This record gives sequence, structure tokens and C-alpha cells, in this order.
Amino acid sequence: MDDLPPFTNIAVSDVPTVHDRIVKKFHSHQTRSLQYRLKQLRSLYWGIKDAEPAILEALQLDLGKGPYEAFLSEVNWVLNDIIFMSKNLERFVKDEKPDDIEFTNKLMNPRIRKDPVGAVLIIGAYNFPIQLSLGPLIGAIAAGCTAVLKPSENSPNSARIMQHIVSESLDREAYEVVQGGIPESTALLEQKWDKIFYTGNDKVGTIIARKAAETLTPVVLELGGRNPAIISKHADPRLAARRLLFAKLHNAGQVCVSQNYIMVEKDILPAFLQQLAIALKEFQPQGAEGNKDYGKIVNERQWARLKGMLDSTHGKIVSGGRTNKNTLFFEPTVVQVDSIEDSLIKDESFGPLIPVLPVANIDEAIRNANAVHATPLGLYTFGNKQETDKVLAQTRSGGASVNDAFFHASIPTLAFGGVGDSGQGAYRGKASFDCFTHRRSITHTPGWVESMLDVRYPPYTEEKLKK
Ligand code: NAD
Repeated sequence: MDDLPPFTNIAVSDVPTVHDRIVKKFHSHQTRSLQYRLKQLRSLYWGIKDAEPAILEALQLDLGKGPYEAFLSEVNWVLNDIIFMSKNLERFVKDEKPDDIEFTNKLMNPRIRKDPVGAVLIIGAYNFPIQLSLGPLIGAIAAGCTAVLKPSENSPNSARIMQHIVSESLDREAYEVVQGGIPESTALLEQKWDKIFYTGNDKVGTIIARKAAETLTPVVLELGGRNPAIISKHADPRLAARRLLFAKLHNAGQVCVSQNYIMVEKDILPAFLQQLAIALKEFQPQGAEGNKDYGKIVNERQWARLKGMLDSTHGKIVSGGRTNKNTLFFEPTVVQVDSIEDSLIKDESFGPLIPVLPVANIDEAIRNANAVHATPLGLYTFGNKQETDKVLAQTRSGGASVNDAFFHASIPTLAFGGVGDSGQGAYRGKASFDCFTHRRSITHTPGWVESMLDVRYPPYTEEKLKK
């Protein structure tokens, strides 16, 4: 990290100039060629590869991420996305010919052309700073767009390394990183973009959507969770405990798709809590503090917010609860709560808090889930097929995993996104290409069909009406 050249950060007053450059480059049409896109993707791949040690260091500094996690869900994640996109891009950019077109209309060669949407703005979040910023950028490059990336200021070291990668690897005229927080984001939102891709909390999501609406700019919003997990008495308590605990240890629970609370049928509650304790001991034999694989809370503000949530719960702490403001340590903390009104359920913890709410049956769990959030980002259900089918049929969510925590979100080629309040639009795999692509329907009417088209021209005589 220390070897990185110093950057000249773009001042707020220079944002309009950067925007103009990025828009101008798009209108040069150079970014549309397949060769150009593939070259950028290849170059980005090697830029990331070369910077891998610095990325791991940055993630350690920003979030205390251990190298294994950082490689798995950040470096390797985006490298795989680039490989997938590069392998499939030639196929994705090809015109599509819909097969449900009536014979005579086929004469006009109806097809869907894949046009880039234009110059786009990507605003990233802090928790997976690399994948949540470079992931959408890969989609934008693949689609032939130009882009400005504004990484989260809350993971400053990762933001810095991304600026280095983008400026060293990509066409500077087409891709730029603007560092900063609210003033820079606000200046960027003052510009007219062809699409805005935002990842972060729903309050800021509302600001983005409102601002974008002023210029009818389409937005992709990847927002927050309050995701329920539901465990029936027919579930395997050990399996459920291990899988859900993993979701709260990963990135110290700062994962948008990790469960926010767990509802457990009363009959299985003692077994589940026991298995949770066993799993915790297995995963962290020496405890969480000082564990090199267990991350820290990103900053003091977020740490204090989490601490405030824990202090205001009416629930009973079952295990954990230790914290350290100086090191931003927050122990994975299991709390048994007795109401969906508890702050640990009503608010998104986005951290290693594990509230467990006993329920009488699956119907009560479904009612609670729908009452807490009509459209969470994820939903996790453990039980027999009849029960998990019922849960899926009677709830809504951006995505869902049966018998697991957020597995659906780890499949690189499965479209990922929210619904309703948890977001709009999706990306990953082909969806990342589609996200930045306009499907432009085109026909070409040959001269020789004129006699067939005669019927559309006035005057509309009796003879024409009979045809
Ligand atoms: P954050 O603090 O990193 O903010 C996200 C981005 O919003 C940053 O780039 C920041 O500069 C920008 N921002 C902040 N205030 C702004 C403003 N007034 N105007 C314009 N831009 C502004 O991250 P966060 O929002 O605290 O992230 C946590 C939330 O994001 C959680 O709710 C989490 O569930 C959600 N999240 C969702 C996903 C997803 O893929 N759906 C992924 C990660 C996080």
C-alpha cells in the first residue's frame, strides 16, 4: 500500500469536467466495440491480479478482513466475474431474434440490439468495497458504457487501491474514480447520467432515487436487509446453527444478505441454541477477540450504533456481548428476544448481533416476517419441503436460500438484487451486462414488401377493410 503513487483527488469543483469527459468519451463510440471492451476487461483483470497483496492489506486495514475471506469474497469474486464476462461477451452482445414473431413481421428482420445505456455513475458501499464497486464496473465495461466510480469513503484504503487499479489499467478517458463522501456524491448526482447504480442504505437510496427522478435517470438500487431466517421443528438444528452462524461471522456480520433475526419453533429452540453455542466454539475455539479471521466493525460510528442497539434490547443475552471501542471489536452476540418490536429485529444490525425469537409455529413466523419487512433483501428457511415451500409462497424477498444462509447470493451467475424497499434492478453474471444494456428493438422494412403494406395507407376503402 505504501508503494502506491499519491493520487490527485478530484475536487468537487472539477466533478462537472470529469463528467463531461466521461460523457464525451461515450459519444466517441469507441467503447462500443467488442475488442475495446474485452481489452479493458483483460487489463482490469491483470490490474487486480497485480494489486492483490495491496488489496488484501487494504481490506485488513479497513475491515480487519482476514486474507482467506478477502480472497474469497473480494479478489477472487471480481476476478471470476471478469473471466465469466470475457468468455461470454461475444455471445451477449449479439442481436437477439425473438422466436414468437408472426411470419409476415419476420420479413422486417425484427431483432433486439444490445446498446450500452451510456455514461453511468456507480456508488459503492463499504462492507465489500471491492466487489460492490468493481462488480458493477465490470458490467458497465462489458456493456460498452463509460463510468465514474465513487467508492465508499468508509473503506478508504480499499477506495485508494481501486483508484490505483482503475487509473493504471483502464482507459482514463472512459473510466474515472472520484473519491469522497457526501459533497462529492452530491456533486456527482448534480450531473446528468444515463444510469446510476447505487449500493448502500435505503435512506441514501431515497436521496439518489429522488435526485435521479428530476432528470428521469434510471437507477439500480441495491439496498438493505432486515432479512428473516425461519427454523421449523423439522429442521436439523446443528446444520441450521452452523450455516446461520457462518453468515454472522463472515465480515463480522456486515453483510447485506446475512439474516437480521432468526425465528425458531419453540420445540426446537433449546436444541438450536445449544448447537449455536457448539458451532461458535468450533468456528472460534479461542474466542472472537484476537481471532485473525474475524473482522472488526468498520468505524466508531457503526460500532456505536451496534452497541446502542445491543444496549437497548429487551432481550436476554445468551452468549457474547463483549465489545472494545478502541479496537472496534464486537463479539458475535446471541440474544433471545420475545417480540418483533425489539430493536434488534426492527432495525437492521448489519453486524454480529444474532437475535433469536421463539415462535409457536411456521404461520406465526411468516406473519412476523411479513410484518417486520414486506420485501426484505433475503430470506432463509429451514425445515421440510412442505414448510419451506409454504414460507416461500407466503412471503416476498429479493432472493432466498432454502436450508442455508445467503447461498443464493454466492452464485456468481445468479442475478442478485432486491425487491420493493430492498432495492430495484439486479446484477451479477449476465444480469450485470443486461443492467447496463438497452435492449433496442429494431426492424428493417425492405422496399419489396411495399405491396403487402399497401393496406396501411389511407384512404381506408371498403375493399381494404375486407383484407
Ligand atoms: P456507506 O456508508 O458506504 O454508504 C454507501 C455510499 O453512499 C457511499 O459511497 C457513500 O459515500 C454514499 N452516500 C452516503 N451519503 C450520501 C448522500 N447523502 N448522497 C449521496 N451518496 C451518499 O454504506 P451504508 O449505506 O452504511 O451501507 C450499509 C447499508 O447498505 C446496509 O443497509 C446494507 O444492507 C446495504 N447494503 C446493500 C447491499 C446490496 O447489495 N443490496 C450491499 C451492501 C450493503
